[in-house]
Amino acid sequence: NQFKLLGLSDPIVKAIDELGYTEPTPIQAQAIPEILKGHDVLGVAQTGTGKTASFTLPLLEKLSGSRARARMPRSLILEPTRELALQVAENFQLYGKHLRLTHALLIGGESMIEQKEVLNKGVDVLIATPGRLLDLFGRGGLLLSQTGLLVIDEADRMLDMGFIPDIEKIINLLPPHKQTLFFSATMAPEIRKLADTFLKFPIEITV
Ligand code: AMP
Repeated sequence: NQFKLLGLSDPIVKAIDELGYTEPTPIQAQAIPEILKGHDVLGVAQTGTGKTASFTLPLLEKLSGSRARARMPRSLILEPTRELALQVAENFQLYGKHLRLTHALLIGGESMIEQKEVLNKGVDVLIATPGRLLDLFGRGGLLLSQTGLLVIDEADRMLDMGFIPDIEKIINLLPPHKQTLFFSATMAPEIRKLADTFLKFPIEITV
């Protein structure tokens, strides 16, 4: 299986194998090694290109060496909608089935009390929509000072939906030394400007 050559370890390759993926898509082949090296990545890719696995797989790999101890998420994935957040969570479950990592979803329409309880146990991956995350943060139910890995997915939709001020607030809650992965289907000038402010010496990948 060619995923092994990208630097992913056995439990992850096994899960991929079981799903029937034999070779990485172009965004996966280019992004996974760079993310594993610790680079910020600017990915210009549409849905359907295998973009989700291009960040979830290396994220799992990076987290797999240890587990959440503190009551704070180790990584954060921001999605513009509840549906996309649910899809990413499903992918995590599939790709991470042979690992013992935990994830939590922070999206509208779910009980805030339950979400707070899950977070209190400490999670490896938090998948959230920006508004809901800030809401819980405002209530004192969340700390992000240990979150060293941030994914901003579907940045162009975030922009269209008016979420950029929320994302800026969220970024300010995270530690300054972190790895950021930024994905967008398009690279309009406004998106380019955002990427310039959010990313440090990013590797740019367009598929
Ligand atoms: P995405 O672009 O992330 O929405 O992924 C599109 C679809 O492609 C999803 O249903 C994935 O399960 C599938 N997929 C992702 N990567 C691969 C791969 N390397 N081989 C086969 N299918 C894949």
